[in-house]
Amino acid sequence: MRVIVIGAGLGGLTLAHGLRQAGIDVAVYEQDEPQGRPQGISLHFDDRAITALRACLPSGHVAMIEATLGGPRNATQVLSEVDGELAVTGTRPSDGSPGRARPGHQAHRPLLRQVLLTGLEDTVRFGARLTRFATLADGTVTAHFADGSSDTANVLVAADGIGSAVRRQYLPDARVVDAGKRVLMGATPLRAVSATGLPELIGDNPATLQCGDAMIALGVLRFATPPLDAARQWLPAANGAAIAEAEDFVMWALPVAQDRLGAAASPDAIWQRARGIAADLHPTLGSIVDAAWPDVTFAHRVGVIPPLPPWPATAVTLIGDAIHLAPGFGGNLAMRDAQRLRDALVRAVQGEQDLLGAIGSYEDTMRRENFPAVAGSRA
Ligand SMILES: Cc1cc2nc3c(=O)[nH]c(=O)nc-3n(C[C@H](O)[C@H](O)[C@H](O)COP(=O)(O)OP(=O)(O)OC[C@H]3O[C@@H](n4cnc5c(N)ncnc54)[C@H](O)[C@@H]3O)c2cc1C
Repeated sequence: MRVIVIGAGLGGLTLAHGLRQAGIDVAVYEQDEPQGRPQGISLHFDDRAITALRACLPSGHVAMIEATLGGPRNATQVLSEVDGELAVTGTRPSDGSPGRARPGHQAHRPLLRQVLLTGLEDTVRFGARLTRFATLADGTVTAHFADGSSDTANVLVAADGIGSAVRRQYLPDARVVDAGKRVLMGATPLRAVSATGLPELIGDNPATLQCGDAMIALGVLRFATPPLDAARQWLPAANGAAIAEAEDFVMWALPVAQDRLGAAASPDAIWQRARGIAADLHPTLGSIVDAAWPDVTFAHRVGVIPPLPPWPATAVTLIGDAIHLAPGFGGNLAMRDAQRLRDALVRAVQGEQDLLGAIGSYEDTMRRENFPAVAGSRA
């Protein structure tokens, strides 16, 4: 069996490792160049991502990722201003109920991407933008790329994220609905703000402060093991600036209505808007956003794909943001989809299920579990 994966994001790379580990021929096509595009620096990983990574990645990769997660996060702390000072005045357990995260750890996204790319140098082709696909009479699928090249396989997987070109052609009724909200997300080196006392105050758990209509969420990532040490021990083949330069940080997130963001589009312009909002919340929060790395600031568009009725299984299938958008936990769902699709394709290769039956059972589970989870988070 040969599998083409469109998109070298969290889901596509997890799937590629899983298929390779199972001895299945896989090629990944990614529109961007290797350095990728900014997607923020912080990811909250819960049991779904960790389980998928353990199932799909070689053991050295898993050890490297686990060694470079932040400390355990099992509650969200409520911050308030008490006599002018920030104080923790409550906690909400991270129990996975609607609107609440599951327990987990914070991950450093560029470092994770570097680890996921390690070992896939011959599998991922960068600068390859899929424009369309065609299903052939023998049931195989040909992917066509903007540079005029093409490739044919038994299965085509859309792991091409929110703007999925595969989804547009395959499920044209699926629509991304913009919720009209943006989350301004950024990060500040921990060393720049340790004197504020906030990192000690909140520890490893995330914290939120609400002030009128404005809200900020914060989280500290202190690497369990310095990334360079972890790479030396667990994954010597991993290298690159993402590992050499990774350092402890405080992430911050400020939800705003799209109309408040105005025309700000560049990381620097978004950072300037974030500075203005944070300064109104509390001087310490203002100073944390002031000291941020401007270039990792990102305006995350909050959107949804309304759940679709079931469609018949074919040799084209979808994982992750290409088929469902989950604010705050989409990466976890993308990696879990990757694991489940890998398991389904292995069943087909081993003759336990025919190919379309295996893809159909993956899609049934994905729809049954992820569509309600996404709807719950919207509520
Ligand atoms: C700022 C921010 C913070 C987030 N925080 C969290 C968090 O804490 N926890 C969490 O679980 N999730 C989080 N998410 C969501 C998470 O990032 C996504 O859900 C996840 O990346 C989806 O993975 P994916 O593999 O489906 O798509 P992506 O990771 O988006 O990958 C899609 C890939 O496909 C490529 N591509 C697109 N079109 C084409 C084409 N036509 N041809 C070839 N390649 C193509 C893209 O360049 C990209 O590399 C966050 C997102 C953002 C933006």
